[in-house]
Amino acid sequence: MIKFLDLQKINSQYRHELKHAAEEVIDSGWYLLGERQKQFETNLAHFLDVKHVVGVGNGLDALRLILKAYLEMGFMEAGDEIIVPANTYIATILAITDNRLTPVLVEPDIKTCNLNLLQIEKHITNRTRAILIVHLYGRVCWSGELELLAKKHHLKLIEDNAQAIGAKWNGIRSGSLGDAAGNSFYPGKNLGALGDAGAVTTNDPVLAELVRTLGNYGSKQKYLNDLQGLNSRLDEIQAAFLNVKLKYLDQENQIRRNVAKYYCDHIKNRLLILPEFPQDNDNHVWHLFVIRTAFRNELQAYLFENGVQTLIHYPIPPHKQKAYFDWNHLSFPVTEKIHNEILSIPISPVMEISEAERVVLLLNEFSKSL
Ligand SMILES: *Cc1c(COP(=O)(O)O)cnc(C)c1O
Repeated sequence: MIKFLDLQKINSQYRHELKHAAEEVIDSGWYLLGERQKQFETNLAHFLDVKHVVGVGNGLDALRLILKAYLEMGFMEAGDEIIVPANTYIATILAITDNRLTPVLVEPDIKTCNLNLLQIEKHITNRTRAILIVHLYGRVCWSGELELLAKKHHLKLIEDNAQAIGAKWNGIRSGSLGDAAGNSFYPGKNLGALGDAGAVTTNDPVLAELVRTLGNYGSKQKYLNDLQGLNSRLDEIQAAFLNVKLKYLDQENQIRRNVAKYYCDHIKNRLLILPEFPQDNDNHVWHLFVIRTAFRNELQAYLFENGVQTLIHYPIPPHKQKAYFDWNHLSFPVTEKIHNEILSIPISPVMEISEAERVVLLLNEFSKSL
């Protein structure tokens, strides 16, 4: 079976370093808010070329805390609107609604599956406070026009960088493009911890300080609570693992890119629509390789029967989820089309050439009459 993503194989590349890192934490007797977290924050700040990094519990919390901090700063208040792509992972939306802000869902561009930047302006009202961009599948969603639009309407630009760490736009890393970014180190992400972990990245010192305080019970000094915070911290053992894995991120992303290029050059089947390989290589870190076809379910079954595991990211859009039943009647045709037609095929930094060849062969032989 060609696995969709072989985490065991990915992490066993670094087993000695990871075991050593874990041992050091175990023996240190210090497990939260320590040296490894600080070290990781410094390392990631350097990697992204961003001034402030705050380690938090996971990617959802990173986004929640950014918005919570903007609420504390008085930049937004409950009921204000946040523009967000309709086809994102549910976490992006949860971060908004959890803060009693209102998500304004906007359709993506069918070609990139990223937010259609031309669609944004008509959704801006006097209650809009931010645009929450998602670099979906690992492809950067950014433009100079977007920056100008945000400036014109005094909106914050927040990045959901969960899927795109390491990617660049005009040489600038995603996660450092906007006013603030939420990053996820969920094990399956391009920079994966061995458990939950996340970080907020920003050049804004006030925001960074607030996120740090809010993520630690609203407390700067133990047992003094200035704000009604929550508990979301990056623990030492995950920070230690991330310090090991960050060193290999660019290298791993390059392997993903090579697999993606191979797929784009060799998959030739008119039933399948391939993702575009961007002209600027660095624009995409290929967290997922997502193809589209009107015969998605047939294709998934066919690949499975032939020993290839695939996944759907994601089968149901947020507005069709039970959790958001108030929106279930809404219609987002582009988003719905994407959700009905997409299939993520295997891509990873440990994929063998023979595996990629096998996937290509099977895809080229797929026909709907099967
Ligand atoms: C993974 C992911 C998140 C959430 O990250 P967690 O660490 O799992 O909480 C948010 N947004 C997107 C787009 C993601 O892919």
